[in-house]
Amino acid sequence: MGTRSLPQETEYMREALKEAEKAYALGETPIGCVIVWRGEIIGRGYNRRAIDKSVLAHAEITAIAEAERYLADWRLEEATLYVTLEPCPMCAGAIVQARVGRVVYATANLKAGSAGTVIDMMHVAGFNHQVEVVGGILEKECTDLLKRFFRELRAEKDKPYPPKELPKEFFQASAKELAPKLVGKILCRRLNNGEVLRYRITETECYYGEKDTACHAHKGRTARTEVMYQDGGITYIYLCYGIHYLLNIVTGQAGFPEAVLIRGVEGFEGPGKLTKAMQIGKELNGQELSSAGELWLEEDGSKVKIERHKRIGIDYASPKDQNRKWRFKKS
Ligand SMILES: [Zn+2]
Repeated sequence: MGTRSLPQETEYMREALKEAEKAYALGETPIGCVIVWRGEIIGRGYNRRAIDKSVLAHAEITAIAEAERYLADWRLEEATLYVTLEPCPMCAGAIVQARVGRVVYATANLKAGSAGTVIDMMHVAGFNHQVEVVGGILEKECTDLLKRFFRELRAEKDKPYPPKELPKEFFQASAKELAPKLVGKILCRRLNNGEVLRYRITETECYYGEKDTACHAHKGRTARTEVMYQDGGITYIYLCYGIHYLLNIVTGQAGFPEAVLIRGVEGFEGPGKLTKAMQIGKELNGQELSSAGELWLEEDGSKVKIERHKRIGIDYASPKDQNRKWRFKKS
């Protein structure tokens, strides 16, 4: 990497940063570029990859094309390219091909930097052109813009949305996968008078296959466990200790017995308490989970932190199965 940094360098990088802000305003990863020739900016560009649906729409490529049009020449030997993020391999390739004399960047690109960070395409001995490189000019401002963009992107991804029903396909995954996923989802119950109760699930347990000695299907198919062998997306409700109804969601593919026990919802911790509060009884056993019926599930994108614990009330199971951390609880 070269070390020569010129006094007006910061001003040119500020122009590149202005280009990056145009990308930011469009919701693009904020990267901007200017090309300076004999003290004059002759090319500008900013990242438009998403909006143009083109991997070629990087800031440097756009700026190089503009500068070459201006000079009516494909060679940019006397030019300096200022870019807010260290160039990727594609742009580094274009820079070498255009014989750009100097590259000045602000922030090192840890994932794809091709001016020395991941790979150094600017100084490949076998190439017929070498590029002088300076890094770290206006680094803080350019890095801050990138950081702000990615922080906002993450916040956007985690934002809750209006609840939508979980489709039948959702329940085709295994109980092992769905037991933690169901924590935070919304359990919905339509009462006989039409009123709909909605409670967020706080705790679940996984019961998985005939080999799981804690699973009701451990002893195989019976009239009671038949429902667990069905295609995922239906209820399995049974009476426990002759007093509590427990609600399970059958998961996975037909033929393999598995289910997720719903152990708690917000306000009603305990599998018997929630079924009582939501008026869930034996008559709902074996029902499809669907908003066309009385029971279904919804999601609204809410993120919850989950703790893993051993399952409760399975003293009859083998020590190995008792020790499995197949209970998932909102922390
Ligand atoms: Zn690039």
